[in-house]
Amino acid sequence: MSRMSLIVQKFGGTSLSTPTRIRRGAERAVRAKANGRRVVLVVSAMGSATDQLVDLARQCCLDPPKRELDMLLTTGEQVSIALMAMAIHATGQEAISLTAAQLGLYTNSAHTRARIQSISRDRIDRELSHGKVVIVAGFQGVDAGGEITTLGRGASDTTATALAAVLGAELCEIYTDVDGVFTADPRLVPGARKIDEISYDAMLELAGAGAGIMHSRAVEFGKKYDVPIHVRSSLTEERGTMIMAETAGMEAISVRGVTLKEDLATVSLIGVPNTPGVAARIFAEIAGHNILVDDIVQNIYDGGTHATIGFSTDASAVAEARAVCSRLADQIGIESVEIDEDVSKVSAVGVGMRTHTGIAATMFDALAKAEINIENISTSEIVISCLVPRKDGTKALRYVHDAFGLGVDQPSGSNSAATA
Ligand code: ADP
Ligand code: ASP
Ligand code: MG
Repeated sequence: MSRMSLIVQKFGGTSLSTPTRIRRGAERAVRAKANGRRVVLVVSAMGSATDQLVDLARQCCLDPPKRELDMLLTTGEQVSIALMAMAIHATGQEAISLTAAQLGLYTNSAHTRARIQSISRDRIDRELSHGKVVIVAGFQGVDAGGEITTLGRGASDTTATALAAVLGAELCEIYTDVDGVFTADPRLVPGARKIDEISYDAMLELAGAGAGIMHSRAVEFGKKYDVPIHVRSSLTEERGTMIMAETAGMEAISVRGVTLKEDLATVSLIGVPNTPGVAARIFAEIAGHNILVDDIVQNIYDGGTHATIGFSTDASAVAEARAVCSRLADQIGIESVEIDEDVSKVSAVGVGMRTHTGIAATMFDALAKAEINIENISTSEIVISCLVPRKDGTKALRYVHDAFGLGVDQPSGSNSAATA
């Protein structure tokens, strides 16, 4: 096999929305090959094709079977891989498109949110050794029984970094419609600034807290296998953001970025008997229905006999959460279940929080100045999050962004000096 270095380039939907953009992506891949690299491309569906397929499914069935949803949604990527292979062929280079089943990207059987279990490199190595650019369909997998699965919305990123890890790539490039990872979503915060370098840990937390620029499991693969990830624009040649192992200087900055998770709901179980095993039973049941739980809060009252247990979850999971919790209420003797479907979460993230104090106070003060009520607070080592009414979400994000001095017009020292 050739000893040439290998690069994985991933193109998101916006970078493939027209034939012209697909041809531009093809040219990039061909340039990388001309520079002496072996090239593996991972592509997403064109533009908003996946959203359109989801709409189509809902027009035929309000609650489509997940197996059939996966069957449908994976067609989007199949269109892109074929078109990309054709665009590369048109440049005079050889290329081959591969679905997950063809290359052997195996997942568990959890339709619509499957997890990668193994990736075979044989077929890819063979095609690369024949001098071809290999184009892989992102977002999809196949389970041990041959069923088609998907890895969750936005998960082409994960296909890319997982492949980069398995193939020992020197770099994984994520091409998208913005110049890199910003201090906040530039669509919501016009003054947001591009970050040049960010640690895997901070990026993981940003992604987990709602920064849609990267799928969080993609960052996990990067971190675990030490694959540097370069997030950059498909429209320019500018350097974007390097996601990499933490370096000494990174802790000097307390807050790296802020995020907004918009479509959340809180579920409160009121009057839960405060006896051993109750919380375990409640959350085992919720996990058994694959309902993702964001934060959990428990308060004890009535002299310790009862508790209120609350958790936040995606608004899309509310109907199922309501049904599961109402059943539990009957079985365990919980007084009532209350649901608030109009909450968002604003979070501040930075590895520098480990060594800086006063971050929480700055965040609460910003929300107070914005006259926004905080409905819940949660913290971890490098994240502080507040639940706020959904109508106030964007305003909260902008105030918190400003308070940490993250914007383009702000003195850059104001964030690094937040050591009150
Ligand atoms: P792709 O189709 O390339 O995967 P995505 O829509 O998944 O594109 O991700 C790019 C989008 O992520 C941007 O258009 C931007 O609005 C959004 N985004 C959210 N948070 C951030 C952030 N912190 N930095 C940059 N972009 C962000
Ligand atoms: N096409 C898929 C989606 O829209 C995967 C991706 O874009 O990463 O979710
Ligand atoms: Mg994406």
